[in-house]
Amino acid sequence: MKIGVVKERAPAERRVALVPDALKQLIGAGAEVLIEKGAGEGAAIPDRLYEEAGAKVVSTDDLYRTADVVVRVQKPDGRDVEALREDQVVIGLLQPLIDPQLMSKLAGKKVTAISLDAIPRTLSRAQSMDVLSSQANVGGYRAVLMAAAAYGRYFPLLTTAAGTARPANVLILGIGVAGLQAIATARRLGAIVKAYDVRSETKEQAESLGAQFIVLKSVADAAGEGGYARQLTPEEQAAQQQELNGHISGMDVVITTAQVPGRRPPLLVTADAVKGMKPGSVIVDMAASALGGNVELSKPDETVVTDSDVTILAPTNLPATMPAGASQFYARNLTAFLLHFLKDGALNVDPEDEITAATVITRAGEVVQEATRKLLQPAATEAKP
Ligand code: NAD
Repeated sequence: MKIGVVKERAPAERRVALVPDALKQLIGAGAEVLIEKGAGEGAAIPDRLYEEAGAKVVSTDDLYRTADVVVRVQKPDGRDVEALREDQVVIGLLQPLIDPQLMSKLAGKKVTAISLDAIPRTLSRAQSMDVLSSQANVGGYRAVLMAAAAYGRYFPLLTTAAGTARPANVLILGIGVAGLQAIATARRLGAIVKAYDVRSETKEQAESLGAQFIVLKSVADAAGEGGYARQLTPEEQAAQQQELNGHISGMDVVITTAQVPGRRPPLLVTADAVKGMKPGSVIVDMAASALGGNVELSKPDETVVTDSDVTILAPTNLPATMPAGASQFYARNLTAFLLHFLKDGALNVDPEDEITAATVITRAGEVVQEATRKLLQPAATEAKP
């Protein structure tokens, strides 16, 4: 089986799906690896290192012509979809629930689409394949570094001959994978960290990393399915915002990471709350996208400085800002995933397997994954805002 690694073309995407370290296991399992020329450039991995690890460097055309499986980070663009052939397999973060139409196109071309963002999160044997976790971890780390760089003061307590610097007060909203890494990173930099999540099980996790957990009187536990949060009712949301405002005003830095699968991210930091913050404070909205974010005033990939001198950052692809580290984790996850599918040197798609059933989105000309199929039904398309 030939695995082809493409060069990512999405704007600002610098990650690559496989790194040289990952090739040994795949080649050992009977696969051949093809690398599109320059695929590792963004992550500072020259073609030479892939060749030394046993891969063959090829042109874009040769890759699409000869690979059985095309692996990537971002979903394919129009040109890639054009290049994909019948019976070819494409694996990456395809976001089928955000772009079901793309899945429909791939099914139309009889391409097998397998999406890494659909890996079951709570299945322990899938943990090593969990790309969402590894990339959220990178994101949480980078968000804190970004906040620290934008904040005009120290994070740690410093006592010097020139006086004493107070430690920064940092609030992390949403304590999933990114939030936990953000707590750990802010603590390592010496900040005083508070954290909040609607899932009460996160209290212990936040405290174990040295954060103080904020308990809101107005919102009961809102744990949903699969370890995720459920969406709050409008009344719960209003009460939550009101109570959170009191906490936000005392903070120097706020980092928001809250998501609810398949929904618009909850609004946690209102324009009013920002007005109550001190000049020089910094907010990083990790949930920002075209769908909206956790912060009312954030704009995806822009820096907003309010009239009251609060800086609001809304990076939409933090893992790509640390491309070598993020690609290394991504490649590790992808290798574990590929090895799970590889049987006797070929890709074995067994619909009875739980990981396969969750991640294979299109097969034999059909959209086979239930959640994506539902979105493509005419009623769902009409109901979508
Ligand atoms: P996510 O990105 O979906 O959301 C981030 C956090 O935001 C979550 O903790 C969520 O509870 C919180 N949130 C949602 N709405 C909120 C609101 N209104 N106010 C405050 N916080 C809100 O989450 P994630 O990082 O992808 O993690 C999701 C779950 O998956 C977690 O339970 C995590 O522990 C679990 N997980 C399990 C495994 C495993 O067992 N193998 C691996 C990875 C993740």
